[in-house]
Amino acid sequence: MTATVIDGKQIAQQTRAEAATGALALRTSTGVIAHLAAVLVGEDPASAVYVRNKRVACENAGFKSTLHRLPASTGQAELLTLVQALNADSDVHGILVQLPLPKGIDTSLILDAILPSKDVDGFHPENVGLMQQGRPRFLPCTPAGVMRMLEVSGIETAGKHAVVIGRSDIVGKPMAALLAQKGADATVTICHSRTRDIGAFCREADILVAALGIPRFVQGDWIKPGAVVIDVGINRVGDKLMGDVDYLPAAEVASAITPVPGGVGPMTIAMLLANTLQAAIKLAGSHGR
Ligand code: NAD
Repeated sequence: MTATVIDGKQIAQQTRAEAATGALALRTSTGVIAHLAAVLVGEDPASAVYVRNKRVACENAGFKSTLHRLPASTGQAELLTLVQALNADSDVHGILVQLPLPKGIDTSLILDAILPSKDVDGFHPENVGLMQQGRPRFLPCTPAGVMRMLEVSGIETAGKHAVVIGRSDIVGKPMAALLAQKGADATVTICHSRTRDIGAFCREADILVAALGIPRFVQGDWIKPGAVVIDVGINRVGDKLMGDVDYLPAAEVASAITPVPGGVGPMTIAMLLANTLQAAIKLAGSHGR
């Protein structure tokens, strides 16, 4: 293997430590404890694990974390009422509604109801718009985590050709926007399920971000020698977690690569803490505390 392994665990740990330091400084100077309220609807085991990991990370960083757990039978109106109560609660700085929501609940309607100043996932249309305009409030955690990894690893993006596979609102689209924005200055190609001959686009990529959710989709011989490969995919295959990139052959040709697990995954939670701290600092300031 020739590629440098980008250690997401280590970069995430550093990011979480910075959030912990910031939370302590906020608490010492204002008495405000950064507080993330998580909402989990239904019994999806993967969602329960994600929420638990987020709460543990909060508590380890000295944040307050509360969980609002609702049964799968919860109606849309009831969930909306909870979101509105959390919006109105000045003790809560960040609101996280774990996705996916059960069928019958309009996800956009619920996410749009979160106060943009508490939308620490960065999914609210107002925050998406601000990001697109290059004056972000909260960046979506996974693509923001990728940008942080590139920066900490000293990987230059300016003038590079970045290829992003996937165009979801949560990962692909914001990832492409962040890579193309002023300051990052990459030239970006977005590939998706209707793209023909994806391999040909990948072979032209200086930076390749795979975020489609198909195990080992990206072949080793699609990697341009010396390219940087960022694997966002998390796929459970049997009892193993696998990325969207065929790791070993890709690592033979890439200059740097993220593993799965231990790559982008830990960064997502770390950036959630960073966003929650930022929300707490802003709200503490606006209350004159
Ligand atoms: P999604 O299903 O919402 O979107 C997948 C995207 O991939 C779509 O835009 C689709 O056009 C594209 N796609 C699907 N099949 C394709 C194909 N054959 N060729 C090219 N493009 C194709 O998924 P998502 O929420 O964006 O997540 C993508 C992956 O990233 C999943 O494995 C998910 O588990 C993982 N993920 C990881 C993190 C993390 O913290 N590391 C966070 C979010 C998502």
